[in-house]
Amino acid sequence: MDSTATTRQEAAQRGRAGVSPRVVLEARSLRKVYAVAAQPLTVLADINLSLAEAEIVAIVAPSGAGKSTLLHLLAALDTPTTGTVYFDAKPIEAMDDAALANFRNRAVGFVWQRHHLLPDFSAAENVALPLLVRGERLDAALRQAHQWLAEVGLSPRADHRAGELSGGEQQRVAIARALVTGPSVLLADEPTGDLDEQNAVAVFELIERLHRAHRLTSLIATHNLALAARCDRVMSLEHGVLRPAGPALQGGAVRSRIIPGGEAS
Ligand code: ADP
Repeated sequence: MDSTATTRQEAAQRGRAGVSPRVVLEARSLRKVYAVAAQPLTVLADINLSLAEAEIVAIVAPSGAGKSTLLHLLAALDTPTTGTVYFDAKPIEAMDDAALANFRNRAVGFVWQRHHLLPDFSAAENVALPLLVRGERLDAALRQAHQWLAEVGLSPRADHRAGELSGGEQQRVAIARALVTGPSVLLADEPTGDLDEQNAVAVFELIERLHRAHRLTSLIATHNLALAARCDRVMSLEHGVLRPAGPALQGGAVRSRIIPGGEAS
């Protein structure tokens, strides 16, 4: 049985036993200061966040507030100035290079606003890339890529060059690429930011469906307040601190809350 299946079984057991869901990803006292010329720029002052298993949480904030910076720290794509990110209760700063590479490749799926697909490669080749990076054979990687493209509704486009696809289709390929490695965490940075309203809703609904079907733990940074309000919880990021957004945005409250608030510092 693979580790994801084991985790799902454990979660079901915890649910039956009435135990609180496991915290999958946690940030404690994260601070990020960029040294810009002689002037340090504090983008994240004191970030505290707990994502429980199977939770979908939105972060809303104006441009420049530090959403990308925060998501990069959570995905171990950058390091905090101070503070710690925990995955499954283990500090990622304590991981050696091999464990970190494994964390980035297997634990976390990342979706960027601008999909970063390779335009001259086919959709299937783009989705297969993370599997090739971790050493899987090309034929097996392409087989899995085709399965994921079917799951995001793009089988007919699997052999088209990524650069020939529409914006919405490219973002669906990017989502398949983020999830093909079987991560437990999905981090999405303005995944609908470059799309028109109709495509934005379709891509968001796809993320919601995949989140449920694969029992992901998901954090979505978005400008789109209507889409954010569909999540279990909405946090706002202002002045380097995360706080629960106002009640009008807590539309997902109709679904069961997994962990209580209290993340604002
Ligand atoms: P958001 O995703 O909310 O738009 P970002 O995290 O991209 O915000 O950026 C937050 C702030 O940090 C911005 O003022 C940006 O210019 C600055 N910033 C981001 N990355 C760097 C960097 N590598 N060096 C210096 N400043 C940076």
